[in-house]
Amino acid sequence: MNERSTLTVNEKGHLEIGGADCVELAKTFGTPLYVMDEAYIRRMMRVYRRTIDGEYNGNGMVLYASKAFSCKAIYRIAEEENIGVDVVSGGELFTALQAGFPAEKIYMHGNNKLPHELEEGLNAKVGCIVADGYEEIDFIDREAGKRGIRQKILLRVNPGVEAHTHAFVQTATTDSKFGFSLQDGTAEAITAYALTKENVCLEGYHCHIGSQIFEKQSFSLAVKKCMEFVASMREKVGFIPTKMNFGGGYGIWYTDEDRKLTPEEYAEYVQELIQELKKQASEKGLPLPYLLIEPGRSIVGEAGITLYTVGAIKEIPGVKTYVAVDGGMFDNPRYALYQSKYTPILANRAKEENTQIVSIAGKCCESGDLIAVNVNLPKAKRGDILAVFSTGAYNYSMAMNYNRNLIPPCVLVKDGVAEYIVKPQTYEDLVRNDVIPERLKKE
Ligand SMILES: *Cc1c(COP(=O)(O)O)cnc(C)c1O
Repeated sequence: MNERSTLTVNEKGHLEIGGADCVELAKTFGTPLYVMDEAYIRRMMRVYRRTIDGEYNGNGMVLYASKAFSCKAIYRIAEEENIGVDVVSGGELFTALQAGFPAEKIYMHGNNKLPHELEEGLNAKVGCIVADGYEEIDFIDREAGKRGIRQKILLRVNPGVEAHTHAFVQTATTDSKFGFSLQDGTAEAITAYALTKENVCLEGYHCHIGSQIFEKQSFSLAVKKCMEFVASMREKVGFIPTKMNFGGGYGIWYTDEDRKLTPEEYAEYVQELIQELKKQASEKGLPLPYLLIEPGRSIVGEAGITLYTVGAIKEIPGVKTYVAVDGGMFDNPRYALYQSKYTPILANRAKEENTQIVSIAGKCCESGDLIAVNVNLPKAKRGDILAVFSTGAYNYSMAMNYNRNLIPPCVLVKDGVAEYIVKPQTYEDLVRNDVIPERLKKE
């Protein structure tokens, strides 16, 4: 089915992930259920790390972009695999620290980091803060000074490469809430500014050109743009970066409209980026910087599936058939947010031919609460177990309690054994922070 992962169909015709039968998982843990394949996650982390080791003398680090999937266990896996992480909020930072993740391997991102989040980062002694504003630099400088430290920072820049799934464009003007444009002088100005700050150590630049990108040239073009800028900074302000972070964004398979990349092909993305970096550095006589990349989706996305139980089925003659499941936009808001496409199968009847075109609906009170539209399935019936592929990234991390539905638990599978890494929520969790003011209380 998917030669790179542990997904198979067993002799009962049941879908298996990580050696665990999905029908059994649904019985044991209930549905909806997120299932993450540990072997896949580790394999992807290793592919990236080994590429930097092999092609760049280990002069760099892989950062797992933990906004893709954040819970304590994933930070433990990242630490065991000897990679760093990036966090984009105080909450992600807290989760990483709670898991005992080494602070010096944490990079902090955000276009509007809150004062308390920056303080939390400084207190924890995070390795690096990726600054995205003047006031933020002022704040870091002041607070680092109080703590008697010099905080390492990168500056987020915008190379004007706008990448989409299957294409990219170069833009002269950049409309983004992230970063400072390389083209219009703003990145230069903030570089000069950061260099005046005593308690801030500017190490280099960061860029992240987008997500779900398949075009290799998008990444090399971003490297080229950044290195041209770096060369101009050496001339103009005498600054030479020791670190460059080129972000993440490598695409994954959701449906057969997407390519299925092998681990070797993921390695090629990084190889290409490294080649361009070496070429640019040597052409411009610049030292090779410490290299950072930040893959998120490609590490966890295809490692995860979601299991649901089929409930109501509504056939609207001549229009559509809706197959409703016990989850929906509260566990996977990506269709509702950006019409993302997914591939479902019936996990208990995985060998059967597809015979109908249906739309998978959730249980929320929203017409747009859909998981997939016009997808092929065998004739589904109430009680079937529906599996949706490639839900490991930006599903659990985007989940919510809309309609006071419970966010599903998550199990990690390895060699046929499944264990909770996120326990089920309870109704009690839903009312934990609710308060009835005195004047509204029943006597
Ligand atoms: C989201 C994000 C990433 C990861 O992107 P993926 O598409 O999940 O690989 C990396 N860096 C930054 C700054 C991001 O915001």
